[in-house]
Amino acid sequence: MLINVLDHGSTSQKINAAKKMFRKAKARHSIGDSSGYQLLKAEEKEKAITFDSSLPLKNTAKELNISPQQVMQANAIHQPDIVIGLDWPIRKLDNGIQKQLEFYKKLKFNIPWAFESFAWKNALVPHAQYFQPLQSYTLDHVDIFLNEIRGVHFDGVSMPVRTLKPLELALFLVSFYKRGITRVHLLGTSSLPVIVMCAYAAWNLFEWVSLDSTTWRYAADKMSFLNPLDLSRIDLRTSVHVPPTALNLCPCPFCNGQSFQAIQAITPRRDKLQMLREHNWLAIANLVNDLYANGYTIPNLEKELRFRCRNQRQVDSLINTLSVVDALKDCDISLLQTVLASNPKGRQRSRLVGRQTCFA
Ligand SMILES: [Zn+2]
Repeated sequence: MLINVLDHGSTSQKINAAKKMFRKAKARHSIGDSSGYQLLKAEEKEKAITFDSSLPLKNTAKELNISPQQVMQANAIHQPDIVIGLDWPIRKLDNGIQKQLEFYKKLKFNIPWAFESFAWKNALVPHAQYFQPLQSYTLDHVDIFLNEIRGVHFDGVSMPVRTLKPLELALFLVSFYKRGITRVHLLGTSSLPVIVMCAYAAWNLFEWVSLDSTTWRYAADKMSFLNPLDLSRIDLRTSVHVPPTALNLCPCPFCNGQSFQAIQAITPRRDKLQMLREHNWLAIANLVNDLYANGYTIPNLEKELRFRCRNQRQVDSLINTLSVVDALKDCDISLLQTVLASNPKGRQRSRLVGRQTCFA
């Protein structure tokens, strides 16, 4: 279970609601996130933002206040197993120069906050693992940041994946592996490609891989039903015609044998939303568990994906990327970068290229 400082630790009411949630969920693992995401949203909404530990934590329509000290004070209340330091996320931008400016602008905050978060974590939640957030557009940015925060002894890293393509994500993961990082938390999206990468990484690169996102909730808010096989979306707004030949084969307790037409017609809207949120959450959780359970080798993962996915070209591409990664993960990262960028078409060919270049 993942909580965050502003939503679950900023007022006594929110703290009590989170305590109740912990009691009910009985989660095996818990993570305390720092609310960097809320900070990013506040920036986009042009709220007045302060980082003053002498003022109360705050996130209203017009203001946000947070600091590394307060992040760890909130974590001290709930005592999660893993805590994440405060960071200011980089925004999704297209232009290379803008990305550089954004990275360096946020770096000025993210460097001191890494030291402060780590120090306050050691003082207030000493038994928790400390995960360091990384805000980087490129591998060079990772180098720059990690070089600046030497002395922060993190147990793992957390990184947003919402702006990354599967190829780029693969490169980042291998780069972490080569740096000796053993625990990784990814956030921002629960798409099939990200889950496939996570399943591979959990078996082959790291001791710990965790993933969080609001995909299940946002999809439900748009009245989308996630297909439990491959997470493709089925639009169940009442205005949309769903052909009677489309069958809902989901065995989950929330679907409970209902047809798409029946789900489409659920009233009131609140009940339909709740049903879709519950189904979507379970669809993602089951896919993660199934791919991890059956994905201990790339051929096994491929077999599972071939059975599940309607989009077989996406499977070709994912398996291709993983085969290259698997062949080159212990070689120089620039080689992996070159081979992935050349985007070889066939899996067999990419394996060959990988082995020849790496071991010849
Ligand atoms: Zn279901």
